[in-house]
Amino acid sequence: MYPASFEYHAPASLDEALSLLERYGDEGRVLAGGQSLIPLMKLRFASPRALVDINRIEGLDGVEEVDGGLAIGALVRHKDCERSELLRGRFGVLGDAAPQISDPIVRNLGTVAGSLAHADPQGDWGSALLATGAEVEARSEGGTRVIPLDQFFQGPFTTALEPGEMVTSVRVPDPGPRAAGTYLKLERKVGDYATVGVAVHVSFDNGAVGKAGIALTGVGPSNLRASEAEAALAGAELDDDAIRSAGELAAQAADPRDDVRGSAEYKRNVVRIFVERGLRKAAGREEA
Ligand SMILES: Cc1cc2nc3c(=O)[nH]c(=O)nc-3n(C[C@H](O)[C@H](O)[C@H](O)COP(=O)(O)OP(=O)(O)OC[C@H]3O[C@@H](n4cnc5c(N)ncnc54)[C@H](O)[C@@H]3O)c2cc1C
Repeated sequence: MYPASFEYHAPASLDEALSLLERYGDEGRVLAGGQSLIPLMKLRFASPRALVDINRIEGLDGVEEVDGGLAIGALVRHKDCERSELLRGRFGVLGDAAPQISDPIVRNLGTVAGSLAHADPQGDWGSALLATGAEVEARSEGGTRVIPLDQFFQGPFTTALEPGEMVTSVRVPDPGPRAAGTYLKLERKVGDYATVGVAVHVSFDNGAVGKAGIALTGVGPSNLRASEAEAALAGAELDDDAIRSAGELAAQAADPRDDVRGSAEYKRNVVRIFVERGLRKAAGREEA
């Protein structure tokens, strides 16, 4: 099917883009990689009056280290993250997630910010970035807001963005000098969306856990944080008991459904096992 007719704008500057988004309000949509928006338009699930293509705007395509954390611009593609040296080590959860997203064609075009703005409960970036405690920088003609990711996701395909606003960057806080993590994904075949995904990101402090981030993909109406598991780990030694108990708490936090990818019980079990594996990897005790 062809999309409904729409106006197409390709602004060369951020100011111009924000002015167009202001003009069209909730009838305008940002076009980034187009990997989710274009299929939705072809199926007529989305029929925006105007597309504001941000691909020609300079300065939005960088991953930079800022104050020990990261700033990921709105045009950073999945493939950029796959290749970035900055997304290893302390930010391993992000570097491990990138190559597991779909296939090379989608990864060449799709953006991290577009993935967050699309807010698919099966989106992998949502969980990987929730685990890091990331925030979204949203700009409009009216100014700039910084929105913590757990407030940004408001439900399936729904975010806190207001008409006229766009995500300009994603900020990942400094996890401290000793941090590690990973993203584990179960998929039916390579390139599929997650049956279950688990993001684990741990900062260590004097040998114990300082802060732990655990987030889940595909087992709820949006990417979910396993808050009780995170709280139980804070300050704890990352030993077998703590790992087992965090796996149980995360499984309880999951809210999966039976579907073609598996039963709710199966998915809950995968969450438990993946949280355990992810934490062991973060502790340097076992390859996940
Ligand atoms: C075959 C296929 C398989 C896929 N598999 C996976 C997968 O396994 N895991 C996964 O996580 N994803 C998967 N995806 C989705 C993919 O990651 C998309 O790239 C991503 O969801 C959207 O990014 P985009 O840049 O293409 O956004 P677009 O399609 O351009 O936009 C998506 C939505 O976000 C809005 N938007 C985009 N950028 C901004 C911005 N800066 N500010 C405000 N709003 C914005 C748009 O207006 C639109 O509503 C798959 C997609 C396809 C086609």
